[in-house]
Amino acid sequence: MSRYHIDITTRVFHFKEPAGTSRGVYRTRTSRFVRLTCDDLPEIEGVGECAPLPRLSCDDLPDYDAVLRRHCDDVCARGGIDVDALRDVPSMLFGLETAWRQLHAGGSTALSDTPFARGEEGIPINGLVWMGDFDTMAARLEQKLSQGFSCVKIKIGAIDFADEITLIRRLRDRYGSDRIELRVDANGAFSPAEAMDRLQQLAVNDIHSIEQPIMAGQWQEMARLCASSPLPIALDEELIGVNMPERKRQLLETIRPQYIILKPSLHGGMAGCREWIALARERGIGSWITSALESNVGLNAIAHLAAEVYGPAITIPQGLGTGQLFTDNIDTIPITIRGDRLWHGRH
Ligand SMILES: [Mg+2]
Repeated sequence: MSRYHIDITTRVFHFKEPAGTSRGVYRTRTSRFVRLTCDDLPEIEGVGECAPLPRLSCDDLPDYDAVLRRHCDDVCARGGIDVDALRDVPSMLFGLETAWRQLHAGGSTALSDTPFARGEEGIPINGLVWMGDFDTMAARLEQKLSQGFSCVKIKIGAIDFADEITLIRRLRDRYGSDRIELRVDANGAFSPAEAMDRLQQLAVNDIHSIEQPIMAGQWQEMARLCASSPLPIALDEELIGVNMPERKRQLLETIRPQYIILKPSLHGGMAGCREWIALARERGIGSWITSALESNVGLNAIAHLAAEVYGPAITIPQGLGTGQLFTDNIDTIPITIRGDRLWHGRH
């Protein structure tokens, strides 16, 4: 049997600007990199990124390093990845899947057999605009438009809702829906009692969809919103920790969302996301894939997953624009953004 080895290293990345998420503001990001080698494949290695989000990931464990080491030893001992053994630790599964793929792709960063991997096709992505005052947001939106983006996601729920609606209305007045598709992400900021009224106020401004209007874990409330919302609802945090197929099925059938948003680090690695997407498709629920503040190693793997499951010729913008957020990202991965698309390969 082939003999595998895995080294683990830790690296801290620094955000250019503090990044606000549903669990507070991040200034740095810690990732573990698993470097997989095999005696039968000399000179080749596969590297994957394990990057749980503090206080958000279901596998943000106090003894993360020890658990990761144990799973790495297990992968080496069995000569492969046992998805079921790693369901509860999606960030570890994702990193190991990435390393495994790269090793068996001869060490290449082309992790899929797709037009994207060959550099023939870029994946459309959305721009990201953080909430701010009107002038700042208008300037940021203007910048995204001039870069070629036609879909922008705005984080809401951070300031007074009336102010946010005013901002969105003014942005919409200036930039019609023919010019830009607006998605919003509430990160669970609305209470169930106020949510429907707020969804209506958003809907009149021609919003494509809203992520996670209320906090996760309120299936019945969320189901009611999805059944009568004037704008499509996309689940994000709701999927965290729902790792078993039967539970996934239950969640989709209870809530019946319009969309689900898949993040491999949070939602089951690549295998778990494929499972979510298949279950959603069977029920007529749409989906897209987004990164979760990984460095370029994780981002590249997520992009290849998107290319495989949605490509070729992806039309729904994916959330893969996070690569420019760090001052010290890994620059040896050949992914670049041109216009509103993410490309693989040197251009
Ligand atoms: Mg979100």
